[in-house]
Parts: sequence; structure tokens; C-alpha cells
Amino acid sequence: MIPSDLKYLVVGAGLWGGVLAERIASELGVRVLVIEKRDHIGGNCHSAVDPATGIECHVYGTHIFHTSIPRVWDYIRKFTEFTSYRHKVLTEHKGRVYPMPIGLATINMFYGLNLRPGEVADFIRREAAKGADADKPPANLEEKAVSLIGRPLYEAFIKGYTWKQWEKDPRELPAGIITRLPVRCNYNCDYFDDPWQGMPLRGYAALFTALFGHPLIEVRTGVSWVDVAGRVPPSCTVLYSGPLDELFGYSLGGLEWRGLRFERETLPCPDAQGTSVLNQADVEIPWTRSHEFKHLHPERGPQGDSTVVAREYSRTCTPGDEPYYPVNTPQNQALLDKYRARLAAEAPNITAGGRLGGYRYLDMDKTIDDALGVFERLRAAHGERGV
Ligand SMILES: Cc1cc2nc3c(=O)[nH]c(=O)nc-3n(C[C@H](O)[C@H](O)[C@H](O)COP(=O)(O)OP(=O)(O)OC[C@H]3O[C@@H](n4cnc5c(N)ncnc54)[C@H](O)[C@@H]3O)c2cc1C
Repeated sequence: MIPSDLKYLVVGAGLWGGVLAERIASELGVRVLVIEKRDHIGGNCHSAVDPATGIECHVYGTHIFHTSIPRVWDYIRKFTEFTSYRHKVLTEHKGRVYPMPIGLATINMFYGLNLRPGEVADFIRREAAKGADADKPPANLEEKAVSLIGRPLYEAFIKGYTWKQWEKDPRELPAGIITRLPVRCNYNCDYFDDPWQGMPLRGYAALFTALFGHPLIEVRTGVSWVDVAGRVPPSCTVLYSGPLDELFGYSLGGLEWRGLRFERETLPCPDAQGTSVLNQADVEIPWTRSHEFKHLHPERGPQGDSTVVAREYSRTCTPGDEPYYPVNTPQNQALLDKYRARLAAEAPNITAGGRLGGYRYLDMDKTIDDALGVFERLRAAHGERGV
């Protein structure tokens, strides 16, 4: 099943694996085999058209492309055009809807004020000083957040959301989870600051079809690393974007992840929430946010009389669940270091990367940038070996 003369095997047909496969095929002119355990390419960026409504739905949560990295922007546009979509997030608290992140509009609506941009920083400083003990460093996430933005804004917008995300009282979470809570002093309600933002014009599925489209790339879906592990020739370079602990059979223990559950519903109305992503700040509402996919593509028009909404619930990742977010504790970091040391000592032909192989949260642009960096090192090694 694995050709004995195979030079490059990519494990995982997500963005990291896709960029590496494409670069190897296009730049080195060498055949690449990609194996993917799911039945589709695209990893967590995958989108699929809902057959009943024709609406493109993001299966693993809303994905918006945004970057400040010129080489990433130049690279990704070889495979797709982008729309001019700029993402805005709203959050509902006690039946009222506010822009996120916290900015001048949020503060003025919440406090019933009419502050000017030059007054915001002082206002927040005074609010923060009221709630924090200046002589004592914050002992937990709640104290840290209150010391940054004051108790009223914390209670409204951070407390309930954090509870739901971690299924824990913020007083039980370490202060170090947050270093800053950005507050904008103007009415700019864009969620991202990056100069280049947008949605793939024809969707993520088309982007990934183009990315994996080189004739020297062969993709086999429904095949996991465990199916082939013992049969990869030692001369084959493996680019592995599955979970690092899985690579070693979890022999040192499992790295912890947060999981998500999406509850999708088709509603008989043209517009259910008026925006693509609506956060729910209050703990009484069990989901963290809801996604209404048609709003990601306003250029496609009204897209029919019904709409698709997915409610997102956060939960602990148990065996069999999709891992979504790494849990950055000192214990997990120490375990990660041990797995990395084993990888270097025992499997010099395997490079692990991407969000699962690197055990880190990476936006899409950082994933591409990382893969391009890995490819540059690979190209140098490839030249030395004179393959
Ligand atoms: C909820 C959520 C929302 C996000 N929204 C955004 C956003 O708006 N903008 C943004 O820039 N980024 C966003 N991201 C980040 C984005 O998803 C990542 O940057 C991207 O998915 C990373 O690509 P990857 O290839 O490393 O991982 P993945 O997309 O996870 O791809 C890895 C692939 O490897 C496969 N695999 C795993 N194990 C094996 C195995 N043993 N054998 C074979 N195949 C295997 C998996 O099935 C998967 O297809 C979001 C992430 C999450 C969790």
C-alpha cells in the first residue's frame, strides 16, 4: 500500500499538510502521498454545502481568513480569490447585543455614557482600580480580569463566557490564562486588525481542492497513520499533522484538549440572528456562540428563505472526541516536551506540526507560515541528499 520508493508521506489533509504537499510537488517535483483519516480533505477548515438550503456551512466552526504576513497572503491567493468580508462579532448579555471586542460602542451602550475616544483609557483605569487590590497580585483569572477592565465589564462579558468555555469558575482558573484584555478606544468594530481579511470566494472546499490538485499529489482519505505506521520505508520523510501523543500510542499519557459540540438547525426564516457569529455572554445560556453561515457570504445575496444556524458548546475532550483547543498548563507543556524529545531521538524522519502535531492553537495564516518554514528546511535537506 505504501510504495517502497516513496520519498514524502504527509499525514493529515488539513492546511498544514496541504501546504507541505503542494510545495513538495510544485517546487521539488516529487510525488507525495497524503493520508487522511477523515472522509474529506481540508481538516478543521472544511466546509460543505447543506443540500437542503444550498448554504455553505463550516463543519468545525466559522473560519475567517485574516493575516498580516505578506508571504502567506501571496501564497494563499494562488489557490483562491478572497471576498472583502470583514468579521464582526456581537455578544448578547441580558437580552441586549453589544459589539466585541470591548470598544467605545460597547462601553457607551453598557454604561449609558457618551465617552469620547480620549476619555476611555482613564475611565477603564478608574473602573479597574475600584475592583482590584493594588497591593496584591491577582491570584486567579477573575482577579486578573477585574484588575484589567473593572468588575462590571468583567461580570457582563468575561465571567459567564469563561465559565462555559472551561466548565470552571474563573476563580479556579490561573491568572496567567490572560495577559491582557484589549479595549478599543474607538468605534472600530472589526474583530481582526489584520490588513488582509476575507472569505474564499468559492468556499473552503474549492480552496482545498486547488491546494491538493497538483498531479504529483495523491490523497487517500479514510486512512489513518496507525494503518500504515509499520510499513513506511525508513528513507521516507513523514510530515505528520496528527496528535503527537497518538504517534507514540499515548505511552507517556494523553495531552489534554478542550472539545466542542455543534448543534445545527435549519430555520424557516431568511435571517435568524442578523450576523455570522453571536456570542452568548450569560452562563444561563448553555452555548458559547451561534454561527449563521449565510452571513459569511453577503456577496451571494439572500440565499433563500431559510437559514442554517449552529450552536457551539464547549466541553472536556474525552477519548473519541475531536480535539479542538490545547489546554496550556505546565503539566501539559512538560508532557509535550517529553514527546518532542522522543520524536527527535526515535523518529528522525518524522516532522510533527500543525495544530495537533505541534499541540498549539494556530490561526490559518500562522499554520501556513509554519508549513512554509518547514518546507524551506526540507528543501535544503532535499538538495543535500540530491534526491
Ligand atoms: C473552532 C475553531 C475555529 C477557528 N477559526 C479560525 C478562524 O476564524 N480563522 C483562522 O485563521 N483560524 C481559525 N481556526 C484555526 C484553524 O482551524 C487552524 O489554523 C487549522 O485547522 C490548522 O490546520 P492543521 O492542518 O494544523 O490542522 P487540522 O485542520 O486539524 O488538520 C489535521 C488533519 O489531520 C488529520 N489527522 C489527525 N490524525 C490523523 C491520523 N492519525 N492519521 C491521518 N490523519 C489524521 C485530521 O483528521 C485533520 O484532517 C479555528 C480553530 C478552531 C478550533
